[in-house]
Amino acid sequence: MDDLKFGKRNKRGDWAPNGRIEIAPFWAWPPKIPSVLKWLPEYIWPWNAFHMATALAYWCLVVPDVEVMKTLSWGWALRLYAVNAAAIFAMYGSIELFFYMRKKQGTRFKFNARFPAEQPSDVFWFKSQNIDNALRCFLISIPLWTLVEVVFLWCFANGSVPWLHFADHPIYLAALAFVAPVIHEVHFFVIHRAIHSPRLYKWVHSIHHNSINPSPWSSLSMHPVEALLYHAVALWHLVIPSNPILALFQLHIAGFGAINGHIGFDRLEIGRGVSLKSNAYAHYLHHKYFEVNYGGDGLIPLDLWLGTWHDGSPEGEARMNERFRRKRDRLNPKRQAAA
Ligand SMILES: [Zn+2]
Ligand SMILES: [Zn+2]
Repeated sequence: MDDLKFGKRNKRGDWAPNGRIEIAPFWAWPPKIPSVLKWLPEYIWPWNAFHMATALAYWCLVVPDVEVMKTLSWGWALRLYAVNAAAIFAMYGSIELFFYMRKKQGTRFKFNARFPAEQPSDVFWFKSQNIDNALRCFLISIPLWTLVEVVFLWCFANGSVPWLHFADHPIYLAALAFVAPVIHEVHFFVIHRAIHSPRLYKWVHSIHHNSINPSPWSSLSMHPVEALLYHAVALWHLVIPSNPILALFQLHIAGFGAINGHIGFDRLEIGRGVSLKSNAYAHYLHHKYFEVNYGGDGLIPLDLWLGTWHDGSPEGEARMNERFRRKRDRLNPKRQAAA
């Protein structure tokens, strides 16, 4: 595919999409019904449909019987860990293999023209972003993802929280499934904003930000505190009356969905003339500039409302630079007086 039909490339070879990242169209006033109708299938397909499909597959094939889950034991917990790790290895690993190791797409649609393997750095274990990020995925984040999973399954199995059934509450549970990505977006924004406070950033979140040029393994490369807070989004289904399948769906939006912001390509070419949009640009800009786009890509535009939104346009860049300039002046009033 010719990526220059969709964006532009600078002198360094970095590619950026044309236009701007648009927030979800239902925020428009007066309402734009045709835009909402066009957006709706994209909201569901392919990513949220994929997360729901994996949640259902887990429920049917992986999650043990309720009687088994009434008792905490290493057996079923380790089995869940093994499946989560295998699934992430297959999903993240195949994107890493085809697009980062074999470079089947070259740098077409790639935001940063360089590949992490070309940039060894002391900040990473073994000086390698790939090895560091992959080890953190499997040794830190996936065990904590599994811990959250075991906790909510055990709570549902024991009757510690309400377990609503689809046969009895079809509309309520369908509505809850529909807003699960909204819960994710708000939860992620709040914890992410919190770990950008100076002290927590240094102690916790700087690990994730070591990857300025993220690749799939960067998605779950986190400090344990961040990994726990991030996957704990599924525990909202112990507070809101829900069903374990929806809690799994919520967890998969976080665990499997983390890759969206870190693919590094705007589109993955998966067949002749067929490409999969990654929705990665907003979070790529977060990795590039740190203090923009704390949330997702505008489903709930908290960044826009709080002044930290970078929509990828030159105007967005200018607004960000102006905000950074004001911050520098605030921190260093002498510099402001000199200017
Ligand atoms: Zn990230
Ligand atoms: Zn961050």
